Amino acid sequence: TETGLQPETLPADPAPLAPERDLMSKFDPLIAERQALLDSGVTDPFAIVMDEVRSPTEAVIKGRETILLGTYNYMGMTFDPDVIAAGHAALDQFGSGTNGSRMLNGTFRDHMEVEQALRDFYGVSGAIVFSTGYMANLGMISTLAGKGEYVILDADSHASIYDGCKQGYAEVVRFRHNDVNDLDKRLGRLPKEAGKLVVLEGVYSMLGDVAPLREMVAVAKKHGAMVLSDEAHSMGFYGPNGRGVYEDQGLERDVDFVVGTFSKSVGTVGGFCVSNHPKFEAIRLACRPYIFTASLPPSVVATAAASIRKLMTAEKKRAQLWENARKLHGGLTAMGFRLGTAQCESAIVAVILEDQEQAAAMWQALLDGGLYVNMARPPATPAGTFLLRCSLCAEHTPAQIDRVLGMFEAAGRAVGVLA
Ligand code: PMP
Repeated sequence: TETGLQPETLPADPAPLAPERDLMSKFDPLIAERQALLDSGVTDPFAIVMDEVRSPTEAVIKGRETILLGTYNYMGMTFDPDVIAAGHAALDQFGSGTNGSRMLNGTFRDHMEVEQALRDFYGVSGAIVFSTGYMANLGMISTLAGKGEYVILDADSHASIYDGCKQGYAEVVRFRHNDVNDLDKRLGRLPKEAGKLVVLEGVYSMLGDVAPLREMVAVAKKHGAMVLSDEAHSMGFYGPNGRGVYEDQGLERDVDFVVGTFSKSVGTVGGFCVSNHPKFEAIRLACRPYIFTASLPPSVVATAAASIRKLMTAEKKRAQLWENARKLHGGLTAMGFRLGTAQCESAIVAVILEDQEQAAAMWQALLDGGLYVNMARPPATPAGTFLLRCSLCAEHTPAQIDRVLGMFEAAGRAVGVLA
């Protein structure tokens, strides 16, 4: 052209503005589903408020005294006087929070003390505390298994294990729930020289079933894989020292990493990983969910340390918890309820219902009668099941379990679950 400008170098018109897309519209099906549930007249099972909590087993919900049978307070430590005193003392001495990462200003005396309590409890050389159990799985899995390596996980793994896989760069391979042969087959297809991490859980939290860890760990070792076991739902009452299912099955020398939480048997909040690996401390240098978040408040780690030390000698509580679980499992089985496991395998007793409608009606009838249990549904549950999940506490009394059984029978008949 005369000016020497090439058409493609001329300034283009600004791109037309696209109409704004409402990113929230993807939640419309969820909103509609919840509304349909509420329209059927039930209380929202996912919006319960504890107005008062009177003990590990009793709360006031909607003005009514309610037995708690759906918390992870397995060992009933939340109101232990020594645990509460430790929290008060730390709050007074160190203030309400740390204002920083463990890597910088956020390591206080009691973070060191709780890690020592964990080393003593598990009889290991290494312990690292995270801000939640969710973050412990997120951090450990994404940091241990890197690019070109493999994470092999049970299909029914907890969301935090799945999310740990997503956060990292390893290839992810799933095997059928608790299926030793499937694990073997899938490991056999992977390159021999590649690093592999098999992630297992001692107790699976939806149905309360226990993993055949001995067989699975043997298969993992045969293929040269390291093993991480999440023992969130077994701490305090499984194995001679309450370390978990892996201890119960004699695998202390074979499981490389154990993940756990303070939010269940310990009775506060926080997560951890313990290990005897000589280089374990290096995790602190590389693990993003450990580094890029604030550490737990001093009162929380102090209560956790006191609780963990008491769990080391909690034989009576352990025995009571198992007695309670067996009593509930046996009673519900005798009434004709369909349960997640044929025998009592853990402190979780899952009642399987037909569908959402039946589960919601039953859940509501129990709540109206003064009993709180967990409503669980897909995608949290396996095989699209609707569950009323009961979790027992060492502090439930035999009389409370009798009342619970009575309430289940009445609700089961009212809703038509029992003939
Ligand atoms: N692992 C398993 C198996 C769990 O069930 C949970 C919590 N329900 C977690 C990890 C996460 O623990 P936290 O509540 O400490 O985040």
